[in-house]
Amino acid sequence: MSLNPSAVKVPARISVLLPLPLREAFDYTSENSLEPGVLVKVPFGPRQLYGIVWEKKGESSPKTLKPIIAAFKNIQLPQVSLKFIEWVSGYTMTPAGQILKMVLPVPDSFETTGKKSSAFLSSSSEKSPQKPQLSLDQLMAAEDVKRSLESKAFHTFLLEGVTGSGKTEVYFEAIDYILQNGGQALVMLPEIALTAQWLQRFEGRFGFQPAIWHSDIKQSQRKATLRTLLQGNVPVVVGARSALFLPFLDLKLIIVDEEHDGSYKQEEGVIYNARDMAVVRARLSQATCVLASATPSLETELNVRSGKYRHIQLNDRYGGAEMPEVKLIDLRKIRKISHQWISPPLREALQKTLAQGEQAMLFLNRRGYAPLMLCQSCGDRVMCSQCSIPLVFHKFQEKLLCHHCGYTAHLPKACPACHEEGTYSSVGPGVERVYEEVKTFLPEARCVLMTSDHLSSSQKVFDQVKEIQDHGIDILIGTQIMAKGHHFPLLTLVGIVDGDSALSGSDLRAAEKTFQLLHQVSGRSGRERRKGQVLLQTHIPEHPVMQALLHQDRGEFFALESDQRLIHGFPPYGRFAALIFSGRQKHEVENIARKFARTFPLTDKAELLGPTPAPIPLLRGNYRWRLLLKTAKDYPPHSILKEWLFKTPFPSSVRLQIDIDPYSFF
Ligand SMILES: [Zn+2]
Ligand SMILES: [Zn+2]
Repeated sequence: MSLNPSAVKVPARISVLLPLPLREAFDYTSENSLEPGVLVKVPFGPRQLYGIVWEKKGESSPKTLKPIIAAFKNIQLPQVSLKFIEWVSGYTMTPAGQILKMVLPVPDSFETTGKKSSAFLSSSSEKSPQKPQLSLDQLMAAEDVKRSLESKAFHTFLLEGVTGSGKTEVYFEAIDYILQNGGQALVMLPEIALTAQWLQRFEGRFGFQPAIWHSDIKQSQRKATLRTLLQGNVPVVVGARSALFLPFLDLKLIIVDEEHDGSYKQEEGVIYNARDMAVVRARLSQATCVLASATPSLETELNVRSGKYRHIQLNDRYGGAEMPEVKLIDLRKIRKISHQWISPPLREALQKTLAQGEQAMLFLNRRGYAPLMLCQSCGDRVMCSQCSIPLVFHKFQEKLLCHHCGYTAHLPKACPACHEEGTYSSVGPGVERVYEEVKTFLPEARCVLMTSDHLSSSQKVFDQVKEIQDHGIDILIGTQIMAKGHHFPLLTLVGIVDGDSALSGSDLRAAEKTFQLLHQVSGRSGRERRKGQVLLQTHIPEHPVMQALLHQDRGEFFALESDQRLIHGFPPYGRFAALIFSGRQKHEVENIARKFARTFPLTDKAELLGPTPAPIPLLRGNYRWRLLLKTAKDYPPHSILKEWLFKTPFPSSVRLQIDIDPYSFF
């Protein structure tokens, strides 16, 4: 009996990428030809996993390969998502499977079929859209972006304008263009906390709610969004940095609101900057990317100056509102009264503001009551047992808390070092302490604390913001959580309790970050007809950051800061890659870091700084050492890193984290 060769179907060899932190894709066999991007289910050890077809590898198929269990031909990631996975994986030096996990975070989304998946578009609350009157500035800015969308070519814009200048209305116009002409738009926002109020505004403008994507949303909603996205039925997604990785089929516009914001940098797992990756994602699909900010990062500013990004400037506050008047309070000239953090001029201003029936905000970027508990007898500090960080005293919750690992403890009765009882006292202020102080001279004032301890969900933020807008509150006291986006018409005074706090430390961006944050906080004041005032308490009024805030002159600050970075070859004029080694055994971690320093290849392209203990040398029970690689701006560190890491093996008891373009140094 002879076999007819054409009747024998030779299985195809298919490589499948699995959402696991593994370097390689795995080969399987399939009876059918499958295109890259198609969702499949495969055996993996004792488990069955979802993955995607990564590559077709022809027909030769050794018998040792296992067959694919199921292929879902109608569910396919777009090719641009595959390219994006590859690009981000290469740039961040992270296994592609880990990036896939962000593209398909809930791969079993497609198991439930027949469900109506557009349910999340909440059609029940459809209202008629309301298009606002735009200023000439805004109209011209919107035209620029629309022309880019029309051209169907990749462009990046910096949309710059002071707080309250109406940047949102400009990019709403661009979204409107997408809704009229087809395609998809993604709006990235820095804080989940912002979304409730922002969404209300979006709904008012467009009459429907966009799809929402951040870590706080329900699993069922995530699944519905993923399903609908792959059907191409989602015109607008609003989300946190993770939304960038969603499998958009026809992404034409990406907005990165508050592009300078540090929360775009993911510091754990896959370490990436979503602002930078957004530009890459836009390029891959020939889309338009709009970076919006009142205080653009130096990186973005430099890209504008070199002609890489286009620049759109909104000059005035919308609706004729004036910029607040800024005054510096020189704390060196004020007699220090112990346990008092609000200086007499700020106290008076608070009293006056409340007497006029207006609202005030006190800003201090420190949660809790006191950042440090100190034994008055022997000087012992209460430290976290897992980290080399002092525990923060939260008086209202009666506990000590580590802000890095979440460890909690009660204040010990006796000092463990000198065994004396009742010797601990609180050092320095946190927001709770400022709250307590306000109550001493304004006992009738309705005060509220706004920090992540009190506002744990976007609904809580929404309710709190509404209470403030309804004038149920006189004084808001809080951290940077209240610095962003909110619009309070009656708020006319902003008091910055400690303008200097973020300037100390080893962060090369300390001045830039301080300027951005304090500028943003100041912008909460006087958003409508009432003129606002900002009182900034500082010990260093002559510092360029304070002077720039005083004169509201960003250009001058930029020039100075920029010069400093240029001299040292710091970003954006040079590049860094940070290598953090961590592990349970102190000496082992140190030895590995030293071994790496010894094996660093000789090159004139890069400079190695370290090894040194990381600024936080113990975190969550792990000892940490750091090496910093510094290269020229036009010399990406990847090739050096690859060669170096390849030839320096190390035990699995030590973990190595690679942070390309580090943002925080901790
Ligand atoms: Zn003691
Ligand atoms: Zn800790």
